[in-house]
Amino acid sequence: MNRTADVEAFHAAVDAAANRVAAAHGSRLRCGRGCSSCCVDGITVFAVEAERIRAGAPELLAEGEPGPEGTCAFLDADGACRVYALRPYVCRTQGLPLRWVEEDEADPGTVVEQRDICPLNDETGPPLTELPPDRCWTLGPWEERLRALQEAFDGPLARVPLRSLFARSRR
Ligand code: SF4
Repeated sequence: MNRTADVEAFHAAVDAAANRVAAAHGSRLRCGRGCSSCCVDGITVFAVEAERIRAGAPELLAEGEPGPEGTCAFLDADGACRVYALRPYVCRTQGLPLRWVEEDEADPGTVVEQRDICPLNDETGPPLTELPPDRCWTLGPWEERLRALQEAFDGPLARVPLRSLFARSRR
């Protein structure tokens, strides 16, 4: 399997898992076309994900105009993603309730759970803290799988800014 196919399979697995989490929340999640507050400037990706965009949108990258600075270069004037089917992992889970564990700064050696969600998706439904873990997107394992994909093919874990994929950003 080539590198792009591996990334496509990874993204498909992310979508399937993310859709299962989203389906458990019904109308609580208001994400949709035109809601783009999470499409911020400065997002970077591993080279394997950049390559999927390069392979799938060569004309846009060669001739297209990156969006204005301040928002993601791939956002169009209507607030839609111009590479939606090719978008990276981080964009596929935005809007879901997120949970992760980290060391408690106040008590080194102790692990604590943290949670977060877009404020627009926190206006209805049970409090974020009361959601069962399987109704949240758990950060960590998926990032490890993506990191392993990158390491298998490129070794270095250098990040690629999304904006830099546009030829016009490099002139
Ligand atoms: S790649 Fe698409 S979905 Fe991701 S931040 Fe940019 S515009 Fe938004």
